[in-house]
Amino acid sequence: MLYKGGCKCGAVAFEVEGEIGEVIDCNCSVCKPKGYLHWFVPEAQVRMVRRPAELGEFTFNKHALRHRFCTTCGVSPFVEGPGTVAVNARCLEGVDPGSLAVKPFDGASL
Ligand SMILES: [Zn+2]
Repeated sequence: MLYKGGCKCGAVAFEVEGEIGEVIDCNCSVCKPKGYLHWFVPEAQVRMVRRPAELGEFTFNKHALRHRFCTTCGVSPFVEGPGTVAVNARCLEGVDPGSLAVKPFDGASL
């Protein structure tokens, strides 16, 4: 299935090919306040439709994961890692977050 996603203002837009199985709810100091529901997909399954040059980035800890956010509206639609994108399932059109299988992840203890 092809999902469309992006930020609130439309500056960031992308498409994801795949089937959402489990999403990860991480309790670390970044993911918890942002409310991410991570859907991990290989980066080849994500096609950027609009990606502003000034796309925001936050990294911490080992700096392997790039938490991206729209610098206009502040929404955080995905996190980029080596070869992988963690799409924020809350930013996908037509996806009810309450209907997803959510797996807790204890990132706070890492
Ligand atoms: Zn935006």
